[in-house]
Amino acid sequence: MHSRYQTLISKAIEALQFSYAPYSNFKVGVALITNTEKIYTGSNIECASYSLTICAERVAYAKAISDGENNFKAIAIANDKNEISFPCGACRQFMMEFNSDVKIILAKSLKVYKIYELKELFPKNFTLNE
Ligand SMILES: [Zn+2]
Repeated sequence: MHSRYQTLISKAIEALQFSYAPYSNFKVGVALITNTEKIYTGSNIECASYSLTICAERVAYAKAISDGENNFKAIAIANDKNEISFPCGACRQFMMEFNSDVKIILAKSLKVYKIYELKELFPKNFTLNE
């Protein structure tokens, strides 16, 4: 699984090139792998009306879900500052809608990363099912 995470991280880093972040200058790229082994990338997309900005995580999820995929194994998250950055609260809630045990791989670089499960990062979440 180790090398698979690195493949995912490398795709997240590649996705940085498509980030549109003229306001924050904080580019984020992600790569999401499904249980069927498909990989969807995403990058953050900012907007002059700031609150309309879409995070990279939700872009990748939207691409996958609208392609008929809704079971996810892992998502690698990279940024252009070579720092670990955690997904925002909105994205944690959004991702929780699908798999609470999805692995969140926070990449500082191709070889330096931390792995969490989503439910560890978001233990008390809103749900209509319980
Ligand atoms: Zn977010």
